[in-house]
Amino acid sequence: TVTLDQAFFRRFLDRATSVVTAEAAHLTELDAAIGDADHGINLKRGFASIAQALAAEAPEGPGALLTAAGVHLTNTVGGAAGPLYGTVLRRMGKVLGEEAVATPEALGRALAAAVASVRRLGDSAPGDKTMVDALQPAADAYAEALAGGGDVVVALDAAARAARAGAEATVPLQARRGRASYLGERSIGHQDPGATSSALLITALYEATDP
Ligand code: ADP
Ligand code: MG
Ligand code: MG
Repeated sequence: TVTLDQAFFRRFLDRATSVVTAEAAHLTELDAAIGDADHGINLKRGFASIAQALAAEAPEGPGALLTAAGVHLTNTVGGAAGPLYGTVLRRMGKVLGEEAVATPEALGRALAAAVASVRRLGDSAPGDKTMVDALQPAADAYAEALAGGGDVVVALDAAARAARAGAEATVPLQARRGRASYLGERSIGHQDPGATSSALLITALYEATDP
């Protein structure tokens, strides 16, 4: 299994930065189809800024680290996804608190609280064709795997699989929130960019279990 310490969450942020950079063009292409073609650019800039800030000064502990990352994301990324992902990280940081090592249960509470705060801030629910369609199943799958006796690696693997399936399942949906909703029925047939990036981020969290 893995210890959910500062190093674990650093690996998560590093992998998240790498993957949003590698996938920036693809995410922007998805956003070109049903939005304004900036999702990959937005996230790449935001995570680069996090990496730069943490290289200069990394706060001690999982909670403070995620909170600082969330503040940077909100401050550097405009549009819908910046503040929403900023909220995800800040809320996770707050739930994880000041402990030097998070428990698997605390990580589950952090994920669930983060999804709830996105839904509240975005007034969005599963089925609206947003990042919630990847994040909610991820949080649910994590909780279910832990409840079923799985360890944190098993639970994060289940979360990442659920997030990817959730992102793929946005293709036939009609968008009800965000820019894509302006397209009405023309949003059908395209994968939601935010759900796609959420699946990448949850996968990065799973991959952080492998040092
Ligand atoms: P913008 O639409 O402002 O250009 P981005 O392109 O960075 O922002 O992000 C778009 C993504 O944000 C969408 O694909 C969707 O997943 C997510 N999103 C937009 N509005 C909402 C909302 N109200 N609730 C949840 N997610 C949302
Ligand atoms: Mg956009
Ligand atoms: Mg935009």
